[in-house]
Amino acid sequence: MEAGCRNKNKSGILLSIYDILLDKFGTMNWWPARSDFEVIIGAILTQNTAWTNVEKAINNLDAHGLLSFEALYEIDLNLLKGYIKPSGYYNQKARKIKEFINFAKREYNFSLELMKKEDVPTMRGKLLKIFGIGEETADSILLYALKKPVFVIDAYTRRILERHGIIKGASKEKYENLQRLFTANIVPSEANIKIYNEYHALIVTAGKMFCKRTPLCDNCPLKELELE
Ligand code: SF4
Repeated sequence: MEAGCRNKNKSGILLSIYDILLDKFGTMNWWPARSDFEVIIGAILTQNTAWTNVEKAINNLDAHGLLSFEALYEIDLNLLKGYIKPSGYYNQKARKIKEFINFAKREYNFSLELMKKEDVPTMRGKLLKIFGIGEETADSILLYALKKPVFVIDAYTRRILERHGIIKGASKEKYENLQRLFTANIVPSEANIKIYNEYHALIVTAGKMFCKRTPLCDNCPLKELELE
């Protein structure tokens, strides 16, 4: 996806961001998980916490043989809270996991394959009705676990768009509007799932390393793009 780095056109800038970050970091091959099921649990646990804390919680679940629909369905809620405590907000997150597991049993008899067969609007609508699953979590599940062409918007995406003046007020812009910005330029299709996968992972990597609350622009690969 080659495009001029100083192209004022939004489409050109979005393609440039992808090219620059891919060139700098290489392919990310997300999500960091051993199974699609683990992706879903990780997507819930990662809300409002650092990934290192999620890893501790996931490792606890794994060590106790709990990384399956059936095991998480059977486990006592209070025990689950204890195992996922390192991820923070463990009372709420335990309930969110239970709600998702109950949904998966009720609607899909614990079959991820059946979930993957649903179309995006149907599955997204169902996920968003589950307690504690918002747009970013739902879209992370759709993209990284169910392999659907859905672009994920997170706080780093908003920050980078805002700081580079691509969308004014991006931090408060509606999720769907930001998502549409990307999907208008990289259309949702089977062929673009890999790009959606990599693009979000690259943005998160750039955000964590450079586009922090206080940006480290001097060393950031995106410094060649214009800043507002
Ligand atoms: S750190 Fe600076 S150059 Fe890098 S993405 Fe953020 S605002 Fe842009």
